[in-house]
Amino acid sequence: MFLIAVAVAVSAVPEGLPVAVTVILAVGVERLAKKKGVVRKMLAAETLGSTTVILTDKTGTLTEAKLSLSAILPASDEQDSEKELITAALLNTDVVLENPNAPIGEWRLSGRPLETAIVQAAGQKGIKLHDFEKQHKIIDRIPFNSTNKYSVTTARNSNGNFSVMLGAPEIILGFCETEEDGKKQILKIIDSRAKSGERLLGVARRNGTHDDKSQYSFLGLLAFRDPIRPSVKSAIERMTASGVQTVVVTGDHNGTATFVARELGLLNRNQLVITGSELEGMTHRDLIKRLKNIAVFARVSPEQKVQILNLYKEQGEIVAVTGDGVNDGPALKAADIGVAVGAGSEVAKAAADLILMDNNFETLVAAIEEGRRIIANIRKVIVYLLSNAMHEIFLIGGSLLAGLALPINALQILFVNFFSDSFPAISYAFETESDVHARTKRGARAIIDAESKILILFIGFIGSAVLLLLYLALTKFGFPDAIVRTFIFSSFSLYSLIVAFSFRSLHRRIGTYSIFSNHLLTISVCFGIGLTLAAVYAPFLQRILKTSALPPIWLLGVFIFAFINILLVEIVKWRFRLRRA
Ligand code: ADP
Ligand code: MG
Repeated sequence: MFLIAVAVAVSAVPEGLPVAVTVILAVGVERLAKKKGVVRKMLAAETLGSTTVILTDKTGTLTEAKLSLSAILPASDEQDSEKELITAALLNTDVVLENPNAPIGEWRLSGRPLETAIVQAAGQKGIKLHDFEKQHKIIDRIPFNSTNKYSVTTARNSNGNFSVMLGAPEIILGFCETEEDGKKQILKIIDSRAKSGERLLGVARRNGTHDDKSQYSFLGLLAFRDPIRPSVKSAIERMTASGVQTVVVTGDHNGTATFVARELGLLNRNQLVITGSELEGMTHRDLIKRLKNIAVFARVSPEQKVQILNLYKEQGEIVAVTGDGVNDGPALKAADIGVAVGAGSEVAKAAADLILMDNNFETLVAAIEEGRRIIANIRKVIVYLLSNAMHEIFLIGGSLLAGLALPINALQILFVNFFSDSFPAISYAFETESDVHARTKRGARAIIDAESKILILFIGFIGSAVLLLLYLALTKFGFPDAIVRTFIFSSFSLYSLIVAFSFRSLHRRIGTYSIFSNHLLTISVCFGIGLTLAAVYAPFLQRILKTSALPPIWLLGVFIFAFINILLVEIVKWRFRLRRA
């Protein structure tokens, strides 16, 4: 009795589970790394699979961040105004040019994409960063950040000090002494150009330093084009189809953001575009009410990004947020999944759970899909291990309750446990058969969902009940005790193994996927079958495990029993499919 108690305890504890889960996570993380997604915390891979909302940046993630200057629009039509505009913009860049003597097309530049684009465009106009730095002594600089949305540089030349600003044009205009009419005119140009997808920058200049915050004169606009990444549209469609909402959250102009969102098919129905200033004016209730319909948040600050993120979290969504800037740290930390781009700041990367080395939105989508596969595989392992554990408990418990001699002994339980709990479970890490994972909300995201519980209990119970009845019947009919026990032992063993093929998908019918395509699982199962046969026929093991050789017809029975169990699993899966359809 004591031995049996120990054996049941040992086998009912799914000791293969932690190992299998770790291997599943590790394999998933490695698969992702090959697709240029670096997971910084292994458990994040599992959360990724439950993502229900993606809050994504625009520049670099949805677009290629290959900005090219498409128009120079000086405010005045004096001769040198274009050159003045570009020079002022150039002063505001913080770019390293590695090979200034190479032709412009071959320049290696590092810095923010927009600023490198300015350096390149200026170069093409014959204004070189290098020469330029010699003529101007830079006294002070406020670098660009996404809260201010502009940068300021104060420099000195032969005529004295002067300051130049570069940034979001409406904001730059706020610093300028331009008359109201003139401002309206410029804003109109900005709007219409932004709507065509251009990214706009305003440039302004004043004499003296930046101290008192006006007296700038508006020099004009620079317009850039940033192509949309070709693969993003289909990636977004895949996400939408599987119930994940994609929302663009950007610091950029609402026109530019709207253009990109429309190109990507995010603005088809009655979706809304909300700007940062509208956001300030809206009540919490209003926001919550509209949240489902919002496709774009434009001209938002990093603080508002956190506010938006929290709105979705309050609604029970599981939110992935992308970011690149220094100011994105808090949002990335607060997100369920913080996603930094490879080109982003170190601060963003340090706060992130996932880093997209190629900055690409599609890599995020691939990561979410990989996360789902990880969850599905963990679920398979749990169902497999726990249904086997249930099977053992019911089999032993049932025969104790029925007052029968135990059908299998302690060593046999441990023997089967050795090969059925370990190798097949780990093989699920390499399972590529992916179950479509339904949309989950926070709280309802249990890995052991209702269907898994039913599978575990039902299969464990029915399987062992059938085996117990067989045991009863065979003993009643007076078959030799040694043969009957060996039959029960090998059926018990084979069932635990072969059912693993059925659990390769918890949704799809066995046979709709190619049964033996998970080679590791096939090998694990064959190894187990081999050991079972050895236990039955090898004299050495017969002595230890107290088995005796089964006549061929009994052996056939063992296999038939195993297939009956597969049938049971398939019936349950079929019922689930019917219910879902
Ligand atoms: P995104 O969400 O597209 O990354 P950003 O926060 O980077 O938006 O940019 C917001 C706005 O700030 C842009 O629309 C642009 O007008 C301005 N801007 C962006 N980068 C720079 C920069 N390096 N220097 C000055 N202004 C910039
Ligand atoms: Mg940015």
